Amino acid sequence: MPENVAGFAGVVLDQVRAAIREADLLVFMVDGKAGPHPVDQQIAEMLRTADRRVLLVVNKLDKLPDETAQHEFWELGLGEPVPVSSAAGKGSGDLLDRIVELLPEITEEEKAEELLYVAVVGKPNVGKSSFINRLLGEERLVVSEVAGTTRDAIDTPMRYHGRTLVFIDTAGLRKQSKIEPGIEYFSALRAQRAIDRADVCVLLVDATEAELHVQDLKIAEKAWHAGKSLIVVVNKWDLVEKETGTAVEFEKKTRQRAPMLRHVPILFASALTGQREQRVLDLILEVTEQRARRITTREVNEVVHELAKRAAPPHYRGMPVRVLYATQADTAPPTFVLFVNHPKALTESYLRFLINGFREAWGFHGSPIRLRIRSRREKKQT
Ligand code: GDP
Repeated sequence: MPENVAGFAGVVLDQVRAAIREADLLVFMVDGKAGPHPVDQQIAEMLRTADRRVLLVVNKLDKLPDETAQHEFWELGLGEPVPVSSAAGKGSGDLLDRIVELLPEITEEEKAEELLYVAVVGKPNVGKSSFINRLLGEERLVVSEVAGTTRDAIDTPMRYHGRTLVFIDTAGLRKQSKIEPGIEYFSALRAQRAIDRADVCVLLVDATEAELHVQDLKIAEKAWHAGKSLIVVVNKWDLVEKETGTAVEFEKKTRQRAPMLRHVPILFASALTGQREQRVLDLILEVTEQRARRITTREVNEVVHELAKRAAPPHYRGMPVRVLYATQADTAPPTFVLFVNHPKALTESYLRFLINGFREAWGFHGSPIRLRIRSRREKKQT
């Protein structure tokens, strides 16, 4: 024990006091190797009397699930101790699930207050300005204009089905006449900034062109790689001579241009006539819901297990590569952590197969899915 234990305990207890003031949920982590410490008792007492939910986490149990040292901590009187090993990456998924369970539910009201940022992007003349003016044209929908993060960027919020959508950087787009003809207001840098701030990107493309332009694809890729949800709106649909199958054909061609375009909603619309204007707004809400989905660790592991049965994983030195454990670490965009016995031997195609399997199981329509691969040793068979 260090000599200045009183001072040390004082500092720790101050931190606990601050945490109690600020947090909705207190995660109290103790050292499972060292066993209960007198300072743990002091902290526990403060936590028991605080009007907060507490989760007791026992760390350093590297040999889970064969360890039982967590049970020594029942004496702290904080309920069932949750065993983990940060070093070996064990138990973290279950811990995350417990934390999510204990966090106060987001009420409908709070959800409604959460702003939803939307960037309308596309190359010059596809109709971004017309589209925005159509959507925001009806003054009753526009709440007020607020300053964006950059000095000259103006965002425009709009209420829709109880949510507030904030259209990013609409100043130039809403002006009836362009600042200077020939100069694209929505420069690449500006579009990049808008994408960075967005939750959902609406990519406008031109229906009168034979297929997607390289520039369209670049914007789509930027949005996707930045983890944003994407919707493709094929604008100027009113100008297209339609026969049976025209839309189907255009959609097929579009989806073939890039792998990510297989997973995003594609919509045929007209900023001129207002066709499917409302459908775009509905889709923005739909993809937002999709990207925010949270899947329990149990379900993630069930699906990973099923997928492993469906397609043989790659091999490493004659041994199959195995996903030993998986969990969803984050939402918006959905991010999964996979613990794998031989991470370097995982092939791109197997990762793609897993991502496709995740989509089949849970949708996440319009959103990229991220995988993080971590190394974990297999338990020795004894
Ligand atoms: P931006 O540069 O992407 O903002 O494009 P604009 O909104 O300025 O539109 C460029 C031109 O396309 C304008 O002449 C618009 O009137 C026209 N336009 C935009 N949307 C449509 C549409 O849905 N149908 C038709 N026929 N014309 C459109």
